[in-house]
Amino acid sequence: MAEAEQAIRSAARRAGEILVRELLAMHGTLEHGDEAEVEGAIQRALLPVGRCLLEGVWSLHGHDRRPAAAPCCVHCEQPMRLVDAARPRRLSTIYGEGVTLPRPYYTCTKCHKGGAPGDAAWHLGPGKLSPALARIVAEGGARLAFEEAAGMLQRVLGIQVDDNEIERTTESMGLLVDARAALRAETPAPEAPPDPGSDVLLICADGGRVHAGGRWREAKCVAVAALGPETVIDTETGRARLRVGEKRYAATITDSADFFASRARPLAEDCRLRHPRVTKVVLLADGGPWIEKGWGTLGLPCSVTVVDILDIRHFEEHLHACADAVFGEHTAEAEAWARHWGEAIRKDGPDPLLQAVDELHPETQESQEHLRRFRAYIEVNAHRLDYPAFMAQSLPIGSGVVEAEVKVVVNQRAKRSGMRWSEAGAKAVLAFRALVLSAPRHLQAFWDTQPQVNRLPLTLLPGSGRAA
Ligand SMILES: [Zn+2]
Repeated sequence: MAEAEQAIRSAARRAGEILVRELLAMHGTLEHGDEAEVEGAIQRALLPVGRCLLEGVWSLHGHDRRPAAAPCCVHCEQPMRLVDAARPRRLSTIYGEGVTLPRPYYTCTKCHKGGAPGDAAWHLGPGKLSPALARIVAEGGARLAFEEAAGMLQRVLGIQVDDNEIERTTESMGLLVDARAALRAETPAPEAPPDPGSDVLLICADGGRVHAGGRWREAKCVAVAALGPETVIDTETGRARLRVGEKRYAATITDSADFFASRARPLAEDCRLRHPRVTKVVLLADGGPWIEKGWGTLGLPCSVTVVDILDIRHFEEHLHACADAVFGEHTAEAEAWARHWGEAIRKDGPDPLLQAVDELHPETQESQEHLRRFRAYIEVNAHRLDYPAFMAQSLPIGSGVVEAEVKVVVNQRAKRSGMRWSEAGAKAVLAFRALVLSAPRHLQAFWDTQPQVNRLPLTLLPGSGRAA
C-alpha cells in the first residue's frame, strides 16, 4: 500500500509539472482567447496529464498481472520464457495516442515466437485502442459515418483516430454481436424468463435496401418492447395509448426465413415472449409479404391474443398514391380525399373506405388499375386496418413509436448517398448499430463481457472491402 501510494504521489507530481508546462505554453490563448478557445486550450492541456496518470497507474499494476506460472506458447504449446519484465505496448487512449503500458513479455523456448499473455488480463485484444477508447470509437462508428465519427472524436475528446481504425473497430464489435446472436438462436429460450412488467408485447419488423457487395440487398430489422401498463398521449392519434417500454433491436442482411429464425424470434423470447404474464402480442409492420409470412414463424404461444396492425403511415402512403392516381397528382381534390379517408379510417375502420372506392369511376385505364390494386390492398389487409379497435385497446397504430426501427437503423446509417459497403461490413455495422440503439443497459452488458479482447478481424471474411 505504501508503495502504491508513493507511486500515485509521484505520478501526480509529474502530471502537475506537465500541466504547468502545458498551460504556460498556451498562456497567450488563456489570456486573449475567447471563452471557447480557453476551454479548448485547457482540455488540450489535460490530455498529456491524463496520459501521464494512466502510465503511472499502469506501471504500478504491471507486475501484478504477470502470470503465476510460465505461460505456454499459443503456436506450439511449449513453455515460454520471460525475456522482458516490462516490455512497453503503445496504446491510443481517450487521452491521445502513444500511452505506454509496460507488461511482461515472453518468448517460446521452442519456436521462439514472442507474446504477452498478460494482455488479456488488461482486457486488451488486437489493435492499438485502449478498452475505453475502443468503446467510444465503436459507438461513434455505429451512429455516424466513419469520417464523421473521426471528426466528432477530434472535436469532443481532442484526439485523432483514423477513420480506418474506426471502421475496423466498429465492424469487429458488430461481428461479435452477430456471432453471439447466431449462437443465441441455437440455444433454447430460458425456461423461466423474468417478469416483463407488462401483459402486452410489441414486435415491429421492417426492411430497407442497402447497396452492399456490389448489389442491392434487403437489410431487415426487428424491434421489440413491452407495452404499458402506463399510458401516454399518442402523437398519431391524439389519444391515450400504452407507453412503449425499453426497446431492443436486431438487424442483419439475410433471407426472411433466417431472419425470423435467427434474429426476430430469439429477440422476442429474450424480451419475455414466453412469460405467462404476456397475454397479448402486437405485430406492427408495413404489410410486406415477407414480414406477414415471418410472423407465422415466431412461434407465438397459443395462449396469447395476436393483434396484427398495418402501420398507419404506410397505409396513408398508399392512400395518397391512390388519390393522386384518381384525382390528379397533388391536386386539391386528391389532397382533400386522402385527408378525409385518412381521418375516417381511424374512426370507422376500412369498410366505409371500401364503399367509397367502389363509388369512384376514374376515366383512364391506368387510374382504374391503380384503384383496383388499392381496393385489393384494403381487402387483404382489412383486419390489420381496424384502427378503431386497436385504439380502443390503447395500442399504437404507427411505427413512429419505435422510431429507431429500420428507418433509423438502416436508412440513416447504411443507405446514405455515397455509402459503399461490403456485405460483411454492412452486416457487422447494422448488427452493432441495432445494439447501440437498444436500451443502454444492453450495450453496457455487452461491454461488460470485454468484447475488445475477442474482437474479430473483418479481413478474415470473404468479400471484405472498404466502406465509406
Ligand atoms: Zn512456440
